[in-house]
Amino acid sequence: MPESPEAPKLIDPFGRTITYLRVSVTDRCDFRCVYCMSEDMTFLPKGEVLSLEELDRACSAFVAKGVRKLRLTGGEPLVRRGIMGLIRSLSRHLKSGALDELTLTTNGSQLTKYAGELVDCGIKRINVSLDTLDAEKFSDITRGADIAQVLNGIKAARNAGLKIKINTVALKGVNQDTITDMVGWCGERGLDMTLIETMPLGDIGGERVDQYLPLSEVRQQLARKWTLSDSELNTGGPSRYVDVAETGQKLGFITPLSHTFCETCNRVRMTCTGTLYMCLGQNDQTDLRTPLRASEGDELLDAAIDEAIGRKPKSHEFVIEPGEDGPAVARHMSTTGG
Ligand code: SAM
Ligand code: SF4
Repeated sequence: MPESPEAPKLIDPFGRTITYLRVSVTDRCDFRCVYCMSEDMTFLPKGEVLSLEELDRACSAFVAKGVRKLRLTGGEPLVRRGIMGLIRSLSRHLKSGALDELTLTTNGSQLTKYAGELVDCGIKRINVSLDTLDAEKFSDITRGADIAQVLNGIKAARNAGLKIKINTVALKGVNQDTITDMVGWCGERGLDMTLIETMPLGDIGGERVDQYLPLSEVRQQLARKWTLSDSELNTGGPSRYVDVAETGQKLGFITPLSHTFCETCNRVRMTCTGTLYMCLGQNDQTDLRTPLRASEGDELLDAAIDEAIGRKPKSHEFVIEPGEDGPAVARHMSTTGG
């Protein structure tokens, strides 16, 4: 849709226009993936978490400021009670043309229940996280989840007409040997796939360097079976894409430890407590909950958003090295939603 010259814009100090907001709607999850959470997580008290109405107000304030894409994530977004009410409400911005895309990242566990309703709300594509097709490994990675629930969810979503991208975190010695076959599985089903390197976010009660598998290594491994060629596709995000000749599908590589994507970064992230993070790999933050709760009008909220975007950092500072004990960023991925 052509933008009118007066359309409001959020522009950061490096000239990047912010058009993409990712919102973690809950820190809770029905899985406990080993790279994401510790076994016994302490979740936030309910009073700290934004209500669905507050989430709607915050998202809508960003949309009014020129955000064109909203992604709901978590924790597991589809385990938040009343989530479909929020999605339905936000879908009004799709109908009005203010938003190009409303989407979500999910572990797939609730898709059999919600796929139809998501389509009904105007959602066209979603990301589903699936690290392996091996039932036992899947249960180990998620600490006890049943892969059948996710595979049935993916089937339901495809049948409902949703386009699906599979996100797979590459884990050394864990799912490394199953990724080659997953590329074929996705290809047969017309699913795009993105591989993700582990990021040093949050204490997970183990040595993260043990899990770290550079995607350059995975690519070499994949090239033994698949013909990969660099794709021209650039979505402005952190993925670099290759075309898989045999399946005709795209395969994305997200290597967060490289700085190559920061220059075109168009996104910010809000947690379920209303904390806005201007960069996934930095601690700069702004509290949007206080202005949200301080008044019914949005003047304070709008001012806080503008001030925050005026401080978006140039790039992240991730490192994973042996001997680096703590996480580079203390919060978990389930807080910011990735
Ligand atoms: N629960 C949903 C899911 O799993 O898709 C949404 C939230 S989850 C935090 C979003 C994505 O972040 C998932 O694809 C997950 O694999 C990824 N993720 C979580 N922790 C990560 C980490 N430390 N490094 C890289 N990716 C991570
Ligand atoms: Fe839950 Fe997603 Fe984190 Fe796994 S990656 S524990 S599914 S939030």
